[in-house]
Amino acid sequence: MKKQNDNALASSVLVIGLGLIGSSFALALKRASADRLIIGYDRQRATMKEAKALGVVDYCQPSLPEAVAQADVIFLSVPMLGMEPVFEQLAQCDLSGKVITDAGSCKGALVSAARSVFGEVPDNLVPGHPIAGSEQSGVKAGRADLFFAHHVILTPLRQTNPQAVTLVQQLWESCGAHVNFMGVDHHDQVLALTSHLPHFIAFSLMDSLVGDKESHDVFRYAAGGFRDFTRIAGSNPVMWHDVAISNKAAVLTSLDMFSAGLAELRSAIENSNSQTLLETFERARKGREHFASLLTRKHAMAGKKDELAVLVTRPGGVLAGEVRVPGDKSISHRAVMLGALAQGTTVVDGFLEGEDALATLAAFKALGVDIQGPEQGRVTIKGVGMRGLKKPEGSLYLGNAGTAMRLMAGLMAPQAFDVTLTGDESLSNRPMGRVTQPLADMGAMIATEDKGTPPLRITGGQSLKGIHYNLPMASAQVQSCLLLAGMYARGQTSVTTPGIVRDHTQRMLRGFGYQVDVDGQVVSLHGGGTLKATAIDVPADVSSAAFFMVAASIAEGSDITLTHVGINPTRAGVVDILRLMGADITLSDERLVGGEPVADIRVKSAPLKGIDIPHELVPVAIDEFPALLVAAACAEGKTVLTGAKELRVKESDRIQAMADGLRILGVDAEPLPDGMIVNGGNPIGGGTVDSFGDHRIAMAFAVAGLRATGGVRILDAENIGTSFPGFVALAAQVGMRIAEEG
Ligand code: NAD
Repeated sequence: MKKQNDNALASSVLVIGLGLIGSSFALALKRASADRLIIGYDRQRATMKEAKALGVVDYCQPSLPEAVAQADVIFLSVPMLGMEPVFEQLAQCDLSGKVITDAGSCKGALVSAARSVFGEVPDNLVPGHPIAGSEQSGVKAGRADLFFAHHVILTPLRQTNPQAVTLVQQLWESCGAHVNFMGVDHHDQVLALTSHLPHFIAFSLMDSLVGDKESHDVFRYAAGGFRDFTRIAGSNPVMWHDVAISNKAAVLTSLDMFSAGLAELRSAIENSNSQTLLETFERARKGREHFASLLTRKHAMAGKKDELAVLVTRPGGVLAGEVRVPGDKSISHRAVMLGALAQGTTVVDGFLEGEDALATLAAFKALGVDIQGPEQGRVTIKGVGMRGLKKPEGSLYLGNAGTAMRLMAGLMAPQAFDVTLTGDESLSNRPMGRVTQPLADMGAMIATEDKGTPPLRITGGQSLKGIHYNLPMASAQVQSCLLLAGMYARGQTSVTTPGIVRDHTQRMLRGFGYQVDVDGQVVSLHGGGTLKATAIDVPADVSSAAFFMVAASIAEGSDITLTHVGINPTRAGVVDILRLMGADITLSDERLVGGEPVADIRVKSAPLKGIDIPHELVPVAIDEFPALLVAAACAEGKTVLTGAKELRVKESDRIQAMADGLRILGVDAEPLPDGMIVNGGNPIGGGTVDSFGDHRIAMAFAVAGLRATGGVRILDAENIGTSFPGFVALAAQVGMRIAEEG
């Protein structure tokens, strides 16, 4: 190969195939450097003529061998099945000192074509693929800015000459593209899902509709959604035919996956299975939001990354000492609500001074309840009795607190006065129909926005009646909402849940002297009772403690005690899972506090091993999986998590967010629709990961930093305060090497 000067980019580039991609590359290179010679070649003479006339190339050379002789770099942008014939022609030419690269959509087929023609993949061939394009084709569609701010994936092989790779990288960067590197197979699998599958679905949908006798009406009344969804069905049939054949194995896998999902959806519709339908749509919507936030973040972050809270960790660190993490969020909300409605004064210790629980506290102050604190975790509530709340001056703003909004809907619906519940932008997009519908069955009058979202406008003075409600989804929030409303209803209210849900409401109602009956999955109470004030020592939040349990397990030499941690069996699956992985965890001083079981938890570092996480432990550890997946990354062998679809609809799509971050740190993590496979035990690298504004993702990667060989930067970590105020200070105090950037 001719020696390349690092900075001197190729002075002459031959573009073979002057369609959308080839002509766009030619125009972009010319714009980057007017001195560079761009030579064109296409099997269609008319296309060559047009390319010259449009100024896409400096000239065209109808003899390929001559064109090759005049070029430093040869760029192939013909359809996939055209690659091998072009290689055959190139094999007749003198290629010494030249760099060959391509834009083909399938890298496995490109490499095979090269191998079959040249015997061995030439070391001067740099396979590439721009992740940019359009449904248009042909030389006229070329645009100089097509690749600007888009990714280009290069898939060099072991034998590929590094200087050739650098040259191709620089050429793409001169077009404004971001260059990434990937393995050939990985590229084909990823692209089969993200690009090839959507195209085949769009083609197939359009084809089905065209064949339909109603198609005339379908197209006449089609709206924007239809246009957006089917846009890519206007793409070049030859190109997509070639992609289908060239990436057959990965495309078939992706089609099978899609067909299985479609069949599941079909059966859910046939059986009117609301739970599956709602869960599927909600997961999909969240997934789309995650993707959209990735896109907007990409634009918004350009130049102003530093405005978001960024955490940084340094490698190493050993955890030691005794700490009490902040109080349980779920219990803090409920303590304020029941304390406010009780007769007498309730003193709450260990109250979580996070934004969500503080929003509930502020709401009850606005409802006329005398509440002192929080002061060092203590809140004193002078209860006003079941009928003592007063109409607030304005609407009640609940910030980001979904628990507060759903539980308060149940408590506000039976009051004598009108009240409106509002929240921040994110809460204003969350579905409230799951509580407003059963409440309406009880006789409540609640108006929402068209999509069933907040604000909730509640008309007071309604008399509620008890109902028996079968929850379509396992939701503690809905169950609690109905039980709280049931205290004001005539007769019995009972709620049946399809799976295990947190039982804090039942436990605390009993703590306040209200009789609640539990029979398997059915919880019931009678209306008309009263609540008696009590003292509540809010247990430390096991979800917050989980980060330190994992941290101490993976950081060699650690020995830490977490005091007064809530170990409610509907919440404490993290302890069982870590023990199955080999963690050294001892519980002591187990006791009941206000109806809630608590214990001190001592964790010493231990070698962890990968496990199949038992399904029955998934719902009782659902919030702890960000931390547990970090444990899996450090555990020797394979950890398999399945049955955790709900993780996709939390504050972020936690499966995707964790998989993205772990991969950035070099961990072998494969996301599944309902979980993840992590092959752990290999060194974890440093890097910059995005928490997507999700407090638990941010804290999980802070823990991962203990075992990383380099620093870990965690973006968008400002929401940690919603569940774990003071996390960074406490983590540093027990030995983690963590700080806020700057
Ligand atoms: P296109 O149909 O617009 O252009 C292809 C050109 O190649 C045509 O001018 C055709 O005459 C020419 N050609 C075909 N066989 C030839 C041969 N044997 N010798 C010389 N010329 C030949 O296609 P396109 O959209 O520019 O796609 C080109 C390549 O880029 C394909 O491999 C495709 O997979 C890849 N790609 C396309 C997109 C996209 O969105 N269109 C995006 C990324 C990558």
